[in-house]
Amino acid sequence: MSDQELHIVGGGMAGSEAAWQAARAGVRVVIHEMRPDVGTFAHKTGDLAEMVCSNSFRSDDDEQNAVGLLHWEMRQAGGLIMEMADRHSLPAGGALAVDRDGFSAAVTERLRAHPLVRVEGGEITALPEAGHWIIATGPLTSEGLGQAIAAETGAEALAFFDAIAPIVYAESIDMGTVWAQSRYDKGETDEERKAYLNCPMDKVQYEAFIDALLAADKTEFHEGETAGYFDGCLPIEVMAERGRETLRHGPMKPVGLTNAHRPEDKPYAVVQLRRDNALGTLFNIVGFQTKMKYGAQTEVFRMIPGLENASFARLGGIHRNTFLNSPTLLDDRMRLRSRPHIRFAGQITGVEGYVESSAMGLLAGRMAAAEILGRDLPPPPPETAMGALIHHITGGAEAKTFQPMNVNFGLFPPLDGVRGGRKGRKDRYKGYTDRAKELWTAWLAETRADLAAE
Ligand SMILES: Cc1cc2nc3c(=O)[nH]c(=O)nc-3n(C[C@H](O)[C@H](O)[C@H](O)COP(=O)(O)OP(=O)(O)OC[C@H]3O[C@@H](n4cnc5c(N)ncnc54)[C@H](O)[C@@H]3O)c2cc1C
Repeated sequence: MSDQELHIVGGGMAGSEAAWQAARAGVRVVIHEMRPDVGTFAHKTGDLAEMVCSNSFRSDDDEQNAVGLLHWEMRQAGGLIMEMADRHSLPAGGALAVDRDGFSAAVTERLRAHPLVRVEGGEITALPEAGHWIIATGPLTSEGLGQAIAAETGAEALAFFDAIAPIVYAESIDMGTVWAQSRYDKGETDEERKAYLNCPMDKVQYEAFIDALLAADKTEFHEGETAGYFDGCLPIEVMAERGRETLRHGPMKPVGLTNAHRPEDKPYAVVQLRRDNALGTLFNIVGFQTKMKYGAQTEVFRMIPGLENASFARLGGIHRNTFLNSPTLLDDRMRLRSRPHIRFAGQITGVEGYVESSAMGLLAGRMAAAEILGRDLPPPPPETAMGALIHHITGGAEAKTFQPMNVNFGLFPPLDGVRGGRKGRKDRYKGYTDRAKELWTAWLAETRADLAAE
C-alpha cells in the first residue's frame, strides 16, 4: 500500500466530507465502508452519508445561529455535504431540510465518480499499524473496531452511551439567587472552592419539581438500543420514579453548602451547576442526564430557582453513542496522540449532529491531505464555528465530564464591548458571526497553499 494514500474508515457524514476535501487537494483516497455487508440498527441503506434519523440540517441562519454559521463556513470551503444538501433541499422555513434519499445518493455518486476516490466494502476491525488514516465510524462504530479502539485508549476513554446533562449559558443564570461554592468548601484554590453554582430549593419547590419530573413527556429508546448504561447514570426522572426523596439523597443533596445570599435559610435541596468549558461561558447541571422530551426539559428546568430565565446551549439526552474522550486523546490536528498516523473525525470525536460531524470531517480531511503533501495545517481560529468546535473537543472542554457537544455561541470567545443578557443577544450573535466570517475567509486564504498538490 502506498504511503501517500489516505484511508478513511466509515463513509458517513464525516468520512464522505473528509474524502472529498482530500481528493480535491489531489490526494488519493480509499473509503472503507462496512455497509451494506455489515449493518447498524439505525442505517437502512448501503449509501454513503446516510441520514439515520431526522432529515434536517437545522437552522440555515448564518447571522444569528451557530449551526447556520457552520453551514456558511462549510460552503465557503467547498464542502460536498453542504453542496448536496443545498441541491436536495426541501421547503422548511428557516431550516435546511433535505430529501434524504436524493442527498445521500448524490454524495455517493459524486465520490464514486471522483478519479482519486475508491470505495471498498468490508468492516475494519483493527487499528492500522502504518499509513495515513482517518477513523470516522460514528456513534454506531462496529463492535470489533470499538474494542480495538478501547484497547488502545483504555476503556475509560471510550464511551458507548452518552449521558448528556443540560448545558446553560452562564449569562442567563440569576446570580442574585445562586451562589458559588463547592460542597464542604473543598479545593486547594479559591477557584476550586467556588467551582459550583448552587440553586437552592425549599420543600414546596422541591415537591413541585418532583411532580413535574414525574409528569413530563419522555422519549423512548430506539429499537436496537439497549439501556446497558443504566446503573452508572440514571436519568433524573427514573431516579424520581424510584422514590420522591431519591434525588435529595443523590445529585440534589443539600449538605455541605451555605446559601451566601441568605445564610440563615437551610435549603431543602440544591441543584448544582459546574463549569463546562475553559471560557466559563457554559455550565452543566450536575447529574441531570435525562430522557425527557426537549419541550418538557425547558419547562421543568426553568422551575429551578436561579434558572427561571435560563437559555440552554444544549438540552439533555441519553443515546447509544460511541465517542472518545477527545480532550485527553487527540491533539489539535485531530491525531491520536499515541498513534499520530491515525486521525479521528465526526461524531466519534465528541461532536454531535450531521452538521458538526461533517464539519469535523472537513477539517480532518484537509489536515490529513496537507500532511500527505508535506505540510502542516493549523486548526482554524477559535472565533470561527469550525475553530470553536475543534478547540472545544481537543482542549477547551472539561476532560473529566466530557460529553458530546453541538455547536453553539457559548463555545466562542466572548466579544469585547457588546451588551450581555437577552437584550443584547441579537447584536451579540451578529457580532460573533461577522467576526467568524472574516476570520474563516482569511484562514481559508492563508492555508490554500497547504492544500495544493505540487
Ligand atoms: C439513532 C440515531 C439517531 C440520530 N439522529 C440524528 C438526527 O436526527 N440529527 C442529527 O443531526 N444527528 C443524529 N444522529 C447523530 C448522527 O448519527 C450523526 O450526526 C452523524 O451521522 C454522524 O456522522 P459520522 O460520519 O460521524 O457517523 P455516521 O454517519 O454514522 O457514519 C459512520 C459510518 O461508519 C461505518 N462504520 C462503522 N464501523 C465501521 C467499521 N468498523 N468499518 C467500516 N465502516 C464502519 C458506518 O456504517 C457508517 O456508514 C443520530 C444518531 C443515531 C445513532
